[in-house]
Amino acid sequence: DPGSEFVVVANRLPVDKVVDADGNVTWKRSPGGLVTALEPILRKHKGAWVGWSGAAESDTEEAEVDGISIRSVPLSAEEIAEYYEGFSNATLWPLYHDVIVKPEYHREWWNAYVEINRRFAEATSKAAAHGAIVWVQDYQLQLVPKMLRMLRPDLRIGFFLHIPFPPVELFMQLPWRTEIIEGLLGADLIGFHLPGGAQNFLYLARRLAGQATSKGTVGVRSRFGVVQVGFRTVRVGAFPISIDSGELDTQSKSKDIRSRARDIRKELGNPKTILLGVDRLDYTKGIDVRLRALSELLDEGRIDPHDTVMIQLATPSRERVESYVRMRAGIEQLVGNINGQYGEVGHPVVEYLNRSVPRNDLLAYYVVADVMLVTPLRDGMNLVAKEYVACRSDLGGALVLSEFTGAAAELRTAYQANPYDLDGVKDAIVAAVEQTQAEGKRRMRALRRQVLTHDVEKWAKSFLDTLTSTTETTSSAN
Ligand code: UDP
Repeated sequence: DPGSEFVVVANRLPVDKVVDADGNVTWKRSPGGLVTALEPILRKHKGAWVGWSGAAESDTEEAEVDGISIRSVPLSAEEIAEYYEGFSNATLWPLYHDVIVKPEYHREWWNAYVEINRRFAEATSKAAAHGAIVWVQDYQLQLVPKMLRMLRPDLRIGFFLHIPFPPVELFMQLPWRTEIIEGLLGADLIGFHLPGGAQNFLYLARRLAGQATSKGTVGVRSRFGVVQVGFRTVRVGAFPISIDSGELDTQSKSKDIRSRARDIRKELGNPKTILLGVDRLDYTKGIDVRLRALSELLDEGRIDPHDTVMIQLATPSRERVESYVRMRAGIEQLVGNINGQYGEVGHPVVEYLNRSVPRNDLLAYYVVADVMLVTPLRDGMNLVAKEYVACRSDLGGALVLSEFTGAAAELRTAYQANPYDLDGVKDAIVAAVEQTQAEGKRRMRALRRQVLTHDVEKWAKSFLDTLTSTTETTSSAN
């Protein structure tokens, strides 16, 4: 087996393992933006995907699903607790999201992170053909670029971070900050959502990776967009991710979704205003922010509980991590308070679901929502905001959007607010509820122009074109 010419490495595989009663294993595609965007490239290049199945396993498995070679990296229950729930989701996740929750630093978690990153690097090294393109994804695998380069200097390695890259002062808390920066510098191209993330990284690369070692000073120089590591050139840039906009636009126009949307409004008793939130139940999403804003607006009589319904879809997430358990309780209490005070029997003000909904239902909710509430305290991008826009070919609806999402850089005509400024959030919600039709159309048209012309395929192409274009050789010039 000469291996694959294009390899994607991600914490999770794009498939779910299904074991039937007789113990037979099949793999079922799990839908996701990344796999949709990369599928044509994966197929064309005999591509492979290296990732974890999502369950505790002890053996590596290989399968071929829809022309993509699947290579699973096994994790034991203890490794899941330390590498995934621990270091990835209770250390890096809060650290990279503005320390909204205090990150926990445990040396055992770090050790597990190193070991599992090595396992991913080794699996990738076996899957990749000579000179292959390898694209490593996200914060769980930041050491893989360097480890992989040491095993396979022939590969061209890209890395993309799907979450924010934090301010320098916060990153400096991390006891293993130098190892992370050096791990990332193993890539030929490092991508972030925003130029600010790229700038933070460039500063840290110079500050942390250029230190003297026993073998002498390692020359790391950074200028805008490029880090010089010895004789290697590492490029750094912003590549804001997106969605399959055209597909969503088409689906949302279907008769089926349109009639489902009308049914939802009817089932809710034909309220004048439907507010919508769609999130993983995560403390970064600011679900509490919008509930507090709604609660105060009801108290002040600026929103009428008789003609307003807020739907909050909150997909369960990381339920074994303690901070998530606490946060869920807090949100459910807020929902209970609002309904207890302002709901009627059979007509709560907040309709709250703590489960994921089928894709078609989700699109119908987007289509029916008069105001979409996206209020994260910090979010790398926020695809929900873009999905809402892609579903509004009728030019109806309004988007309330936190300034602290990556999407805010592109969605300029949303009703933007600072999620820490509750009065500002309340004003944005009221402005969105009360907008004239003409104003709403003007804003939505501009949002749609951006989202429909910048889809996930364009994102992937732009990253991979940069990765595969000839690296400029600055080493001799410097
Ligand atoms: N989503 C879903 N089912 C649900 C709720 C959300 O499939 O019940 C999807 C949603 O359509 C979006 C993704 O989950 O594509 C969430 O992406 P986002 O960038 O908004 O947040 P993340 O969860 O990645 O932090």
